[in-house]
Amino acid sequence: MAEETIFSKIIRKEIPADIVYEDDQALAFRDIAPQAPVHFLVIPKAPLVSLGDAEDADAALLGHLMLVARRVAQDAGIGDAFRVVTNSGEAAGQSVFHLHLHVLGGRPLAWPPG
Ligand code: AMP
Repeated sequence: MAEETIFSKIIRKEIPADIVYEDDQALAFRDIAPQAPVHFLVIPKAPLVSLGDAEDADAALLGHLMLVARRVAQDAGIGDAFRVVTNSGEAAGQSVFHLHLHVLGGRPLAWPPG
């Protein structure tokens, strides 16, 4: 189970976020420090820490998050070229320990990432 994080507060609407999509399982909002012209975070409402903590029982939820990522990318007009990233674990760059997909686009995206 995830500890309380800033994303828990966003889910409960205790702190503001620029929400672009919401349903019963997922929330998507603009990253506060965007790394591209379009930079959304897609999170589950369930308190999952990271992809590394996911279990087989989370398969449907993880698939749903990917489809939400596609949807918000399409709605933002970047459906033809976007990147979905999740940092799992501190050494991989995870700083908020509630699973989130970064959805990035609106500029050329180099590969490999840093
Ligand atoms: P990561 O480093 O992969 O865990 O990503 C965490 C992301 O959350 C970073 O890109 C932050 O800019 C973003 N972030 C942190 N706090 C907020 C917030 N209150 N609203 C929106 N994005 C946030």
